[in-house]
Amino acid sequence: MEGLCRSTRLLSVTRLSSKQANKTIRNFSISVCQQRCDGQTRLTRRPAALPRGSRDGASQIRYQSSQEAVSQRSSQSRDVPNASEFLRGSRSLTKEEWQTMESPDGIPDMNLEYVKIGDNPGGFHPVFLRDACTCPKCVDPSSTQKQFQTTDIPRTIKAKSITRHDSGDFTIMWENDIPGFGPDHVSTYSAKFFDICDFRSSRLQDRSDHVRPRLWDKFRIEEELQFVNFTDYMEDDKQLFRALSQLQLRGLLLLRNVPESEESVAEIAGRIGTIRDTFYGRTWDVKSVAEAKNVAYTHQSLGLHMDLLYMTNPPGFQFLHCLKNTCKGGASLFSDSFAAAHRMSPLDRKVLSTTDLAYHYRNAGEHYYFERPLLELDKTSVATNHGKQPAVKFVNYSPPFQAPFPIPKNSQGFVFPKVAKALRNFADRVESPRSLFEYKLKEGECVIFNNRRVLHGRRQFDSGKGERWLKGTYVDTDVFKSKWRTLFEKYSATVDVRVGGQYVHPGKLEEGNARRPTKAEAKTADEASA
Ligand SMILES: [Zn+2]
Repeated sequence: MEGLCRSTRLLSVTRLSSKQANKTIRNFSISVCQQRCDGQTRLTRRPAALPRGSRDGASQIRYQSSQEAVSQRSSQSRDVPNASEFLRGSRSLTKEEWQTMESPDGIPDMNLEYVKIGDNPGGFHPVFLRDACTCPKCVDPSSTQKQFQTTDIPRTIKAKSITRHDSGDFTIMWENDIPGFGPDHVSTYSAKFFDICDFRSSRLQDRSDHVRPRLWDKFRIEEELQFVNFTDYMEDDKQLFRALSQLQLRGLLLLRNVPESEESVAEIAGRIGTIRDTFYGRTWDVKSVAEAKNVAYTHQSLGLHMDLLYMTNPPGFQFLHCLKNTCKGGASLFSDSFAAAHRMSPLDRKVLSTTDLAYHYRNAGEHYYFERPLLELDKTSVATNHGKQPAVKFVNYSPPFQAPFPIPKNSQGFVFPKVAKALRNFADRVESPRSLFEYKLKEGECVIFNNRRVLHGRRQFDSGKGERWLKGTYVDTDVFKSKWRTLFEKYSATVDVRVGGQYVHPGKLEEGNARRPTKAEAKTADEASA
């Protein structure tokens, strides 16, 4: 390593495919070691052609000398600070920052003996592979808990032998293994394992997290909303899988023929998993009983919102069982916030995903508070009307519980107008007649919806005539996902789910635009909004 200029810094980074990246890193590590600091040297290893849309690639690296860097840094420091970065705080380390970081002992990890598996270019870090061993010595077969920790693995560990079996599996035996693991310790890896650790898409598939939401507007959901029979849902695992598929895809589902009991909603939620208890109780009432002396009392409409966004972990799914609904009015409103976000401009998406809103509940002996951006984005990209954009993971929108904006005074001038405008654009989209799905729950129905995606509200109702009584509860996102994954693993190959009137395998579904309304539909919607 002598002769390598310590002050060398990265100049530019270009995405490469993993295959090319491996090649580049090897070439690159050799080249760096051979370079001397001559103040002008630039190392560039650029392959002849870059593949289009390569996702899992590493970065192409171009170096520049220290003098050049100093002169550029001084000009960059005069730049106006980036408002969004300033507000959301830290970003993750870039690849060049990782690579220029000095190793604790001055020996870069590149010099370790990487473990080459099969025909794949490049190799795996020996500590990475040793850490992933799932043999009965390393992972307790009964509890499935790991029996050692990563930091137990000696840094000097080496693969003594690598064997490829006919099944496609690989076995590795180790030199300088963790003390206590004798010479007979063998690690086995399936071919799938290498795919899963190398590609996020394989990982998502392995965890059944690859099924993208199907976006909807009023017209699509009116066509596609699924009604599932309570008994089927409670007693048949395949029907439960179909029901959860609907929640995974559209975030909205109706159960019918639910027994008229205050316990029913807990039974329905409990079928998925543990109920989320909150200060509202394990289950709670949305109730209005008519009182003869109070005929004039009218319950106000409730704008679109999500529940409990002032908590660190807002509940993922909400259940509302309709026990009574004989009042005039009181229809439920739903809107797919993912569809709205999907159609927003890249600038609005950026503003709403990088600036925090604040939510609170400070009342009746409680004080909850949490700051979060309206859009929480995923690492996965999806095609939108505005080109490829990060997919939306969660939406956080609840005007009734919004606290003052957490925007410091000295940045309000340039931040606030953009936030307010983006927020208005978002509200316009979710509240548009085309987006709003209105449905008056009938007695014996239970609506289930994704509280991190589907906004809910209700029309005003007159409690003077009749009675409106809903019983509600929550289930956490993790609980839902756990049930979904176990059912997906079991039934996805054999049970298809209905989408748009057709049976479609869930694995084949992709996030897409809600379809455009026909002229007649658009006319009806316009009239309704007028
Ligand atoms: Zn092991």
